[in-house]
Amino acid sequence: MLLRSTLLRSPHGFPTREGGVSKGPFASLNTSLTVGDVADDVAENVRRLSAALEATPAQVLTVHQVHGTRVLEGLRAGEGVVGEADALVTRTGGLIVGVKTADCLPILIEDRRSGAVAAVHAGWRGVMGEIVLRALEQLISAGAALDSLFVAVGPAIQACCFEVDGDLPARFASTFGPEIVRSLPGKARAHLDLGLGVRRSLERAGLAASHVDVLPQCTRCDERFFSHRRDRGVTGRHLSVIRCAPPAVDTAL
Ligand SMILES: [Zn+2]
Repeated sequence: MLLRSTLLRSPHGFPTREGGVSKGPFASLNTSLTVGDVADDVAENVRRLSAALEATPAQVLTVHQVHGTRVLEGLRAGEGVVGEADALVTRTGGLIVGVKTADCLPILIEDRRSGAVAAVHAGWRGVMGEIVLRALEQLISAGAALDSLFVAVGPAIQACCFEVDGDLPARFASTFGPEIVRSLPGKARAHLDLGLGVRRSLERAGLAASHVDVLPQCTRCDERFFSHRRDRGVTGRHLSVIRCAPPAVDTAL
């Protein structure tokens, strides 16, 4: 049900479709109420996901995602949808922050020193707008340091499947370097490696390469995942989650 990054120590997970109760195009672990799924099924799926992190649904906080670069902070259990934003930070022990995706990049961040965490949703607009750095800055302004921050980018549409046209290839190449644009054999259009863009942003901000993990799974060509592109818009959303777990004692990084 949950894929994990070997880099993160906080309880977290990037879900596959398995382990839920939804049917049809939402089978089975859909967590979105706005795609046409049954509300009771979505609630049960969220309950199962929170239980996997030894929590209850009241502890799970999300945002109403709008492809922007705003970051909010979750403060208490029961807040539910905290507001309109694409990243959510919490420093409150026990709270879980999550983002919903189907091809976009789910990014989870932890501050090993304090236990503070962030969840970030980034499509190409969020990668270009470097929303991951806005979340990082929020954690740093709350006391985190670069040497204690670790970032994992979960399953998302990869360069093999992310065809783009217009001025996007040129814009991405000038922002992140030419290697972010790939030309694939037999394909006329350019492909973008969005995970590499996130990696470049973080490296330029001073984060060590060893503090960044980009999972390789492609949501469009791997049937274990919901994919907005493959399923032509009728599909579920994965809720990637991370729990704030302040260390009981001051442990070494
Ligand atoms: Zn692919």
